[in-house]
Amino acid sequence: MQPSRKTSRRRAGSHLPQENSHEAALHTIRMMLKGRTGYDAFPVSFRLIVLDTKLSVTRALQCLLANNVVSAPLWNSQKSAFAGMLTLLDIVHLIQYFYKLSAGMGVNYESVKKDVERLPLEHLRAIEKELGVAEPPLLSATPNASMFDAAKVLMQTHARRLPLLDKDSETDHEVIVSVLTQYRLLKFVAMNCPTEILQLHHSLRKLKIGTYVSASGVRPFFPLATATLDTPVFDVVQMFSERSISAVPIINEDGVVVDMYETVDVLTLVRLGVYQNLDLTVGEALKTRSPDFLGVVICNASDSLRTLLELIKKRRVHRLVVVEGDEEEKQGGKKGRLLGIITLSDVLRYLIGDQEIAEET
Ligand code: AMP
Repeated sequence: MQPSRKTSRRRAGSHLPQENSHEAALHTIRMMLKGRTGYDAFPVSFRLIVLDTKLSVTRALQCLLANNVVSAPLWNSQKSAFAGMLTLLDIVHLIQYFYKLSAGMGVNYESVKKDVERLPLEHLRAIEKELGVAEPPLLSATPNASMFDAAKVLMQTHARRLPLLDKDSETDHEVIVSVLTQYRLLKFVAMNCPTEILQLHHSLRKLKIGTYVSASGVRPFFPLATATLDTPVFDVVQMFSERSISAVPIINEDGVVVDMYETVDVLTLVRLGVYQNLDLTVGEALKTRSPDFLGVVICNASDSLRTLLELIKKRRVHRLVVVEGDEEEKQGGKKGRLLGIITLSDVLRYLIGDQEIAEET
């Protein structure tokens, strides 16, 4: 087909080398995020589960499971004020606390179980103090803030979600409007910048998106936190808490990725009431995983950022495991062996840019 005179005319800038088109696409995406607010990211209809801080841990967990959500904003009804978020990390801390009391200190298991389950959500922060782990900051933003600024706050604080608060114009009371997640932000980019995404053709390896194995004889997968099917679940729960990560690749003796244990999997332990048995191995715990689990998403370091964003557009993916592919096998590697991990925060960090993140919001 011959191009018509009209279509063969070049758009301004189309003669730029590929490197520039990549930078130009990033610039356009950043400008788009600067010009849109949290309100723009809301779906047409959505529901928001808010938990009162007087609720017991058991009731709150039942509520998360019944509504198929993994986190919820907290509300202090005495003060009529937002009181933070209940997240999977809180459940990880609860499990650590439970373990410390029952196994570590030899306190009767049944009495510890009752105490932990009856604990009101408002006492969760005391558990963090007891465990000596960092208290999550009380983060929030107005839905009128730009999506770019919201993304910057997420990156600066290492949070995965940002509650959006507004004032009720009639009562002047604080209201929780929604929660902006890393996934929603990235999906918004993927949906609203189709042309720019096509320009992001460089490989994930070249762009250094994610955390990668830096070969070392003693710890071959350093700095990645990994486990095998025989690792006790509690060891993985400790990794979540100590390393502030939300997933650990499960590898076999050849380093080939066979599965992934995620923070969301601790909810299954809670649902089945087996969190008291943390000597359970990862292999045993994974057998109880819901059949709805979509599987581990795997990619190669030669895949492009464009492919990754197109995937985010199509399905709710939170992380990808990077494994050796044909290219590495040709050089003596092993197909499927662990190379790295890419999470949504790695992708968002790249799109926003380290320089911008370092600047005050
Ligand atoms: P996340 O909070 O899950 O988005 O991860 C935060 C950072 O930790 C990202 O830079 C990830 O690449 C990195 N990360 C995630 N999982 C692991 C892991 N198992 N081992 C080492 N680093 C990880």
